[in-house]
Amino acid sequence: MEAMERIAPRILAEEWDNPGLLIGDPAQKINKIITCLDVNEAVVNEAIEKKYDMIISHHPFIFHALKKIRTDLPMGKLIQKLLKNNIAVFAAHTNLDSAKGGINDMLCELWHLHNVQMLNVNFAEELVKLAVFVPKSHAKAVRLAIGKAGAGYIGNYSYCAFEMQGMGHFLPLAGTNPYIGEIGKIASVDEVKLETILPAKIKDRVVRAMVKAHPYEEAAYEIYPLKMTGETAGLGRIGELEKVVPFEEFAAMVKDTLQIDHIRLVRTNDREIKKVALCSGAGAEFLSTAKMRGADVYITGDVKYHEAQKAQELNINLIDAGHFGTEYLVAKALAGKLDTYAKKNKWNIEISYDKVAKDPFVML
Ligand SMILES: [Zn+2]
Repeated sequence: MEAMERIAPRILAEEWDNPGLLIGDPAQKINKIITCLDVNEAVVNEAIEKKYDMIISHHPFIFHALKKIRTDLPMGKLIQKLLKNNIAVFAAHTNLDSAKGGINDMLCELWHLHNVQMLNVNFAEELVKLAVFVPKSHAKAVRLAIGKAGAGYIGNYSYCAFEMQGMGHFLPLAGTNPYIGEIGKIASVDEVKLETILPAKIKDRVVRAMVKAHPYEEAAYEIYPLKMTGETAGLGRIGELEKVVPFEEFAAMVKDTLQIDHIRLVRTNDREIKKVALCSGAGAEFLSTAKMRGADVYITGDVKYHEAQKAQELNINLIDAGHFGTEYLVAKALAGKLDTYAKKNKWNIEISYDKVAKDPFVML
């Protein structure tokens, strides 16, 4: 679960979503994991047969509120099987769509897009500024401690901080145990004002590290909210191909690389393709955004009749590569990411992925 939080932070999930641990106990010890797009009977049977103790899917197995668990019906039957065999079920849905390195980025990689940006930014990390007053003798220790705790990241630079020298004054009151000065006497000390920037979510950790490294009984510090934001995340991506290609050629490449047997095209103009916008799953809602951002083509799944008409109105080429088509790659890719994480942390876990899932739609 810690690995999944790294790969697809829960904070990135859409409000209506239901990611996370859906069946099981967070304390359960996991030895074998299978990843998949959907939790269905085939996956559950494979998990039982091959003794997997956790299934990680993209689509949440439990999405709508359950009002009954009838074991004579498909859903109830699967829940019963999962519980009986002690198999945990976890989902990373829209948080995995939005996350850096998530499904949308996997598609960009597959199609070799560069200059990739978010299509629809829906999360921007809140940043704060920390200013701490520390005696000159301990300025370096405090600066390094807060840097080690994760403060001071600006782009690819870490431990960023600014120091200003000045004079601190204080009067220790009765009952104190001052590091410098005496009770009842105003002390004046050469101090440094140390400033740095950090994500609001790690504020407590940084303050703890700062207080630990600070010599004073009462460390004087301030935290300010900032208008600027840090890392962004969001659904969909927009990027550029290495070279301009005709629409049909691009569409054929999409079909080939996704290893699917059909795609649907809404061809609205003869423009060659350079700028590509995409959103895995059902992303027709970002069609106008793709047009506004100057995309030559928009690729998504689950396109409806009126959405195809909208593409014509907007004069943007549209490819419906299917919901399954744009997302099945997640099963293998997620297994790979988890495996890397497990190896790095020396976890003895076996990870596999659902190799038999098929698009429910077939073409005649
Ligand atoms: Zn989906």
